[in-house]
Amino acid sequence: MTAKATAGPVETAQSPGAALKTLDIRAVTFDGGLWARRQAVNREAALPHGLRMLETAGNLDNLRIAAGRKTGRFRGRVFMDSDVYKWLEAAAFEIARVPSEELRTSSETLIELVAAAQGDDGYLNSYYTVAEPGRRWTDLAHGHELYCAGHLIQAAVAYRRATGDERLLTIARRFVDCIHAVFGPGRRATTDGHAEIEMALVELYRETGERRHLDLAAFFLDQRGRGRIGQNRYDSPAAFQDRVPVREATTVEGHAVRALYLTTGAADLYLETGETPLLETLTRQWQDMVESKLYITGGVGARHLAESFGQPYELPSDLAYGETCGGIASIMWSWRMLLATGHARYADLIERTLYNAVLAGVSLTGEQYFYVNPLASNGEAEHLHRGGCQRKAWHFVACCPPNVMRLLASLGHYVATGDASGLQIHQYAAAHVVAPDVALRMETAYPWDGRVRLTLEETSARPWTLALRVPGWCTGASVRVNGRETTSSATPSGYLRLERAWTRGDVVELDLPMPAQCVAAHPWIESTRGCVAIELGPLVYCIEQADHPGTRIADLEIDAAAPLQSAWEPDTLDGVTVIRARGWEVDTSAWRHRLYRPLGSAPPGPRRPVTLNAIPYYAWANREPGAMRVWIPRAQN
Ligand SMILES: [Zn+2]
Repeated sequence: MTAKATAGPVETAQSPGAALKTLDIRAVTFDGGLWARRQAVNREAALPHGLRMLETAGNLDNLRIAAGRKTGRFRGRVFMDSDVYKWLEAAAFEIARVPSEELRTSSETLIELVAAAQGDDGYLNSYYTVAEPGRRWTDLAHGHELYCAGHLIQAAVAYRRATGDERLLTIARRFVDCIHAVFGPGRRATTDGHAEIEMALVELYRETGERRHLDLAAFFLDQRGRGRIGQNRYDSPAAFQDRVPVREATTVEGHAVRALYLTTGAADLYLETGETPLLETLTRQWQDMVESKLYITGGVGARHLAESFGQPYELPSDLAYGETCGGIASIMWSWRMLLATGHARYADLIERTLYNAVLAGVSLTGEQYFYVNPLASNGEAEHLHRGGCQRKAWHFVACCPPNVMRLLASLGHYVATGDASGLQIHQYAAAHVVAPDVALRMETAYPWDGRVRLTLEETSARPWTLALRVPGWCTGASVRVNGRETTSSATPSGYLRLERAWTRGDVVELDLPMPAQCVAAHPWIESTRGCVAIELGPLVYCIEQADHPGTRIADLEIDAAAPLQSAWEPDTLDGVTVIRARGWEVDTSAWRHRLYRPLGSAPPGPRRPVTLNAIPYYAWANREPGAMRVWIPRAQN
């Protein structure tokens, strides 16, 4: 098997379980619009910022000490190396997108340092080399050695694909040889505390064609569910996805990021084996997540305690954990489910999660990051240092920032798939798409407007099918080909399929009606009772203090029956559509100094009509700190 030199994060060209084939990482180029802007900020601000933070937080010094180039103590948490690898992976995708001498030089300096920190036997982990020599592989529940190895592998594969340079891949393969010598059938069995190695080994198999890497990924997945880890007072096997075997799981549970990295790895294994029971259990778990454990933003992980999923319908707004990495993990999993099945519901969740849960994790400047993403904030400082209403330049546990960087750098990967039978468009954005034998321009103001115009710039002579996702939130989608309305309607998989002999200059106009609307939540969710949220297409909105001076956000109610007014504001928050709603400011002064009182003892005070100004949730906390809420109490008329 020869992998393409320029594949993206996932390469399914040869995958027997893949219904859809991923394209070259350079196939999709954003061309103006929201994603072009966010990608430019990621490249020009976030990546240089990340490199500075890796220096100041000690990640690079840890590697220097491990390499014997510096003396001192290890700084930070056990998984510090993984942030360096995620940065390198992001840089690789950026270099693939637009070559950069500066990024090449920075990357090569880091790769040289990583090489120097590697042991003679291939082992590579600055924490165990510097802080706990002689104790490698002794605490798999918490040590993150295989997790860091997984991120090294992903970075190495990405770097080779982007540049053709094998150096980082050689380092990763030496480490993987060292891992093979310790773990596997007939050798040591284990359950690792943090899934990640599985998806990385599958990608390494795709890149190298070496079957033993796929087998080791399967071995690690098969070890799950034996209750080996998570036995102390605050952990449990469920927290570590070690309660039930992978193929018997019916729900997502425990640490949200770990849970979804594991399902991602399992989905990767399915793509390479086509093993039906694996897809069945993954489908069950995915369905369980979206039906009972998902925030409207696409965020996952309801509990601060153990960063975990809660019970079904346990989705508090203000105490939401919703780690940015959880959203990214959800996207990685849904992407593989989409590749496996071709079903639009997975692309729908990718879209929702991307525009809301993940994009909220980074400031518009690209240099400030949320770890925790609540759906309501009272605007006060958060003393646990992970939540609150202000993003931070970096975190003591800094998994999220470089994770956002690598996702944004590789975002084009998630837009389209294709092979000789046709091209499938999963995400809409102003972009150029170049697939084998086909090139088209996508013009749209998405996500602010649902009209998408696709112009074929090149096409093969034989007939092929253009498949266009109809988002689950959309009703009344229509499509015209060269000005003529077609009768096509979405197939059960959620795509409009247009099959014909295309010619250069053909124009397809897709219209996805996108009215601003109020949505309600399942009545069993406690935190959203009596409230509505505002959505515009894939975007979830919120109201924020900065747009309501002199008013307490908690005193605002919405008249959900009144029409919503949308207005494009190019100078607000890098350009957003603001949605205005009719509402009321209620008088809560009778409650001063009281938390509880007999019903009827405080007649409702006068209420004042107000206009609520809602902004996209992703853009909150980019002005002065203040309160915010997604779910707005519904006024009793
Ligand atoms: Zn994180």
